[in-house]
Amino acid sequence: MNNSGFNFENTYLHLPEIFYTKLVPIPVPEPEMVILNTSLATDLGLDFSEIISKKRAELFSGNQMPKAADPFAQAYAGHQFGHLTMLGDGRAIVWGEHITPTGQRFDLQFKGSGRTPYSRGGDGRAALGPMLREYIISEAMHALNIPTTRSLAVVTNGEQVYRETPSPGAILTRVASSHIRVGTFQYAALQQDNETIQALLDYTIKRHHLEIEENQNKALSLLKAVSEKQAGLITHWMRVGFIHGVMNTDNMALSGETIDYGPCAFMDTYDPSTVFSSIDHGGRYAYANQPAIAQWNLARLAETLLPLMDENIGKAKELAEDAINGFGVVYKEKSLSMLRTKVGLFGEEPEDEGLITDLLNWMQQKGVDYTNTFLDLMKEESPKGEPYNSDTFKEWHKRWQVRRSKNKEPLESSWALMRANNPVIIPRNHKVEQALGAATNSDLQPLKDLLAALREPYENSPDLKPYQSPPKPEEKVCQTFCGT
Ligand code: AMP
Ligand code: MG
Repeated sequence: MNNSGFNFENTYLHLPEIFYTKLVPIPVPEPEMVILNTSLATDLGLDFSEIISKKRAELFSGNQMPKAADPFAQAYAGHQFGHLTMLGDGRAIVWGEHITPTGQRFDLQFKGSGRTPYSRGGDGRAALGPMLREYIISEAMHALNIPTTRSLAVVTNGEQVYRETPSPGAILTRVASSHIRVGTFQYAALQQDNETIQALLDYTIKRHHLEIEENQNKALSLLKAVSEKQAGLITHWMRVGFIHGVMNTDNMALSGETIDYGPCAFMDTYDPSTVFSSIDHGGRYAYANQPAIAQWNLARLAETLLPLMDENIGKAKELAEDAINGFGVVYKEKSLSMLRTKVGLFGEEPEDEGLITDLLNWMQQKGVDYTNTFLDLMKEESPKGEPYNSDTFKEWHKRWQVRRSKNKEPLESSWALMRANNPVIIPRNHKVEQALGAATNSDLQPLKDLLAALREPYENSPDLKPYQSPPKPEEKVCQTFCGT
């Protein structure tokens, strides 16, 4: 097989050995390509055009890996729904770090590549539906300009996996800035050895935050840097109505990328308490809880860094608490700024927060669609018909016009600001489910059409119409499953 442009350099293996187990993927009987992300491949400096489909499937199933790959499964821990558990890649294997022609470093990782020492009771495999869900949503998030891991390929493996029902087994190739998670630090802290935590801290700074390498208190600096990135990330999620669904600490990446697309989905009707995941009974990971959960996860990260923050544990706790409280302040600022962009406001006025809160409250009361309400506001004419005929809305609209007239920028800039921050299309869950259902029955057309529609989510076009409507009552899919 030609090299296809792979350029590996596997620095993760320089960490102490307890952080990983070297192993190769378990071979699969009959791999077949489902989808290959050629535009991502090109961005990575990879070219598979010379390889016939059968050989590509051998590559993306792990049956035949590139020579320079040095595959391993990562060890980590994590709070799952609030409870600390020993985890690790139970069905994932990192091939190694690929360096792109422009010098960027990305982990390539299989998901669904067979059992590892961290599999616990699991079969190490993945079903086609959930792997394609990750492909669709991660690529949609990327197109929405939201930091995320990417999806390079999905293959079926020629076997059935047994979940609620039997379904085709599949392997996803994920591309990520790294797979260092809050849970990786929790795992390091559980070793009760400061050198282990220090090694992971130094490695993470080298990989993601070189700018703090010379700082005196590196542990505190990293905590603050990661908090800042997470505040930005969650703000993006809230902007587009994304609900992650399993914000366990092993699913929070220190790179600040959205990671681990399990039962995630986008909200249709605006309701802050929206939950899709079938296992999130208490609504722990509901839409509106996401900022608070991110902060909770960051507090777990802070705990692991305490011994490196200050010799005096009381002082270390004070520093960490300040940083964690800082997340709340930064998030509030970012969130308000983001909401201003959604309604085209420049500058800051004292009435902004009330104006936006009143709109959101009205939206919730009326049960309107989150995405489409902002699209309606983006029309030059004031929106007509139901539900906009209400006096409450009309009065709000007048207040909005008054506030908008305080913008120093011209009206056209205000429209442009709204257009840049309000997607015209999101991967609505009923459309995702339709595409996954068809793909599982060997019809890939709806998947391809959906992916094409999601490519330019801020550009309106008549072709997008079928994807813009919220689900009809009979189309509604209210629950999503991890599919693990
Ligand atoms: P997730 O909810 O996808 O973040 O998975 C939580 C943990 O369970 C991770 O460590 C996974 O690697 C592991 N896991 C999930 N599904 C399986 C499976 N089918 N076999 C083995 N391990 C799994
Ligand atoms: Mg995970």
